[in-house]
Amino acid sequence: MCLPGQSTEKDECSLLKITDFERYDKENAYWGDDLGATLSESSTRFCTWSPEATAVYVNIYADGTGDNRVESLPMLRGDRGAWSVEILRPLDGYFYTYTFEFDYRDRFETIDIYAKACGVNGDRGAIIDFSKTNPADWDTVPRPSLESPCDAVIYECHVRDFSVDASSGVAPELRGKFAAFYAENTDCGGAATCLAHFKELGITHVHLLPCFDYATVDEAKLHRAQYNWGYDPKNYNCPEGSYSTDPADPYARVREFKLLVSALHENGIGVIMDVVYNHTYETEKSAFHRSFPGYYHRRRGEQFSNGSGCGNETATEHLMFRKFMFDSLKFWMTEYKIDGFRFDLMGLHDIETMNILRRELKKLHPQLLLYGEGWTGGDSPVHSSKLALKYNAGLLPGIGLFNDNLRDAVKGETFNAYGMGFVSGNYGSAPTIRRGIAGSCAHHQLYGVSTDACWALSPEQAVNYCEAHDNLTLWDKLSVSAKHYPKPIRERMDKLAAAVIFLSQGIPFLQLGQDFLRKKPRFADPAEAADKHLSELDRVVENSYNAPDFTNSIKWDRKTRHADVFAYYKALVALRRENPLLRLRSGDEINACLHFHPADDPAVVVYSLERDGACLIVCLNPHHAPHWFDIPAQLTGDFRIRLGDPSLTLPAPVPRRICAAPIAALVLERIRQA
Ligand code: CA
Repeated sequence: MCLPGQSTEKDECSLLKITDFERYDKENAYWGDDLGATLSESSTRFCTWSPEATAVYVNIYADGTGDNRVESLPMLRGDRGAWSVEILRPLDGYFYTYTFEFDYRDRFETIDIYAKACGVNGDRGAIIDFSKTNPADWDTVPRPSLESPCDAVIYECHVRDFSVDASSGVAPELRGKFAAFYAENTDCGGAATCLAHFKELGITHVHLLPCFDYATVDEAKLHRAQYNWGYDPKNYNCPEGSYSTDPADPYARVREFKLLVSALHENGIGVIMDVVYNHTYETEKSAFHRSFPGYYHRRRGEQFSNGSGCGNETATEHLMFRKFMFDSLKFWMTEYKIDGFRFDLMGLHDIETMNILRRELKKLHPQLLLYGEGWTGGDSPVHSSKLALKYNAGLLPGIGLFNDNLRDAVKGETFNAYGMGFVSGNYGSAPTIRRGIAGSCAHHQLYGVSTDACWALSPEQAVNYCEAHDNLTLWDKLSVSAKHYPKPIRERMDKLAAAVIFLSQGIPFLQLGQDFLRKKPRFADPAEAADKHLSELDRVVENSYNAPDFTNSIKWDRKTRHADVFAYYKALVALRRENPLLRLRSGDEINACLHFHPADDPAVVVYSLERDGACLIVCLNPHHAPHWFDIPAQLTGDFRIRLGDPSLTLPAPVPRRICAAPIAALVLERIRQA
C-alpha cells in the first residue's frame, strides 16, 4: 500500500486505451473555469480533470522542495471527471502537488498542469495571492497601442543573452535576469544598452524567447555555468525561475516578470512571449501524462509521435489540451498584460485550434499579435491539410507566419551554410524578393512568378526576417558564404538584407544584436579561433541552444564598433514607422499602391509605392557596380533621397536619372507633385 503523496516506484504510466477521442471528449470534456488552485480570504480550493483516475489526492507542502509534507487530502469526483477539494483556510505561501491513482493501484505524484506559480525547479505548485504581485503603477500604465500588426517592429531577445555580459552595464547581480529589463540608462562606452537601446532603435515590440518555466537549467545550481534557449517546457503558466533573483521564492519570479512588462509598457513597447505548446520536455514523466496518461500527447499506436523532433508532440485537437492552451494564453494576457504570442512549431497545432484561439483571445484584446512557425520538426499523425502550416495560410486569417521564402532569398539557403542570396550574389532570387516586397500576397504584376513565395492572404500574415535565434546570424552567414569579399563589402550586404526586410510589406522582425552585426563565436580564446586549419564555419555556432554565454551573450561594445551599421538599422526603423506606404494593410491596398518598374537588369528591383500624392521609389541594387536608372515618367514631381548611401549626397530635387550605389538600397521620396 502506498500512502497518498508518494508515487509508486513505476515511472511509466501505461497508456489508457482511448481510440475515439472525439467521442471521449464529447462525453468527458470539462468546461469549468475553476481548474487549478484558487485562493480566497478564507479558503483554498483545488480542482483538476482526470476522468479515468480511481482516486486523486492533493498534497500540501511547506516548501517547494524537500521532505515537508503538511497533509494529503482526498479529492471528490464531480461532474465529468473533475476532482476538487476545498480547504477552509487560505494557504498563501504553501506548495502543492496532486497524486493521481489509476486502476486502484498505480499512483503518480505530479505538479498541477494548471499551477500558476511554483517552487524551485517547478516540481511543486505554489499558492500565491496575485493581488500582492502587481507593480505600483500596474493599473495605470496602458498597453501600447497597435492599429495593425503591420505597424509592429519586432525585436527577438533571449532574457539571459540580453544582459549577462558585463558590457550590458547592468549591475552584476541582475545580469541575465528579468530585472535587467528595467535597469535604466545603462550604457557601454557611451552607447545605450538594454532598455535604453530598445528606445534608441525604435522597435515597437520585444519578443522574448521562452520565459515560462523550462526544465533544463537547474534553478538550484545557478552558480554553475548553464544555458538554454528554453524550448523544453515544464510549467506553461509559471515564469522561469533562473531569470528571477530568487527561484525558491514563488513570488519573486512573478513580481519581476510583471516589472519587466511594466517597464516596457511605460516606454511604449509591447511584450510578446514565445510559447511552446507543441511538445513537453518530459514524456511519461510530464505532468500532463501523469495527470491523464495518454490523453494529452499524440500517438501512433502505442508510441508517442514525434512531429516536434523532441520525442513527443501534444494533441491540440483533443479538447482538454485545446482548453489548456486557451486558458494558459488568456492567463498570460490578462494577469501579465502580454501583447502577443509567437507559437513554436505552430505547424503542429491544428487549424481549428488556432482559429478558435485567435477568435476568442482577440475578443479580450483586439490588438493581440499572433504569429508562429508554419512548419513542424517531423511527421505528425495529423493530416497536413488540418495543420497550421504555412502552406495552409489561407485558412489562418489574422495569424502571422515566418516568411522563410524571403529569408532564404535575401541571404541564401538556411540549411546550406554556403548558399548565397540576393545580397551576396545569387541574383536569380530577385523574383522571390519581389514576392516578399508584395507581402507574399498575390500581386497583379507577379502572375506566375515564384509562386511558392505567394502564400499570404494579407500582409499581416508575413513575418519578414533574415535572422532569428535559429541558424547562423546574418553576419555569420555572410562571413561563411561570402568570405571571399572584404568586410566593408559584407557590411553593405548586411545592410541591404535589412533594407529588403524593412522595405517589404508585412511585419519586420529582427534578432537582438542583428543591428550591430551579432556573431555567435565558437571559441573564447583568440589563439584557438585563429587556427588556420579552421574554416569560417568552424569558428561560429549554428545551433547555440545550449552553448555557453560566450557564444550567445550580446557583446554591447559591438554597437560602438559598428556604429554605422546600427545607425542604418535605426534609420530603417524610423523610415518604416514614419511612412504608412511601407505598412499597407491588405492585399488590395498593396495591389493598388505597389508598382514594379522594369529595370535594365533583371536582378535590380525597382518599385514605387504611391497613394494620395505621397510616393516612395525604391531601388535595390545587389550588384558590385553602380546602377543608373530613370525615375519612371509616370511618377511625376520632385523627389529627394530619403535613404541612400552616404557617398551619394544629392541636393533635392534629385535629377530624373539617378545612380543607385553598389550593393545598396536607395529610397526616394516625393517632395512636390507636378
Ligand atoms: Ca525552470
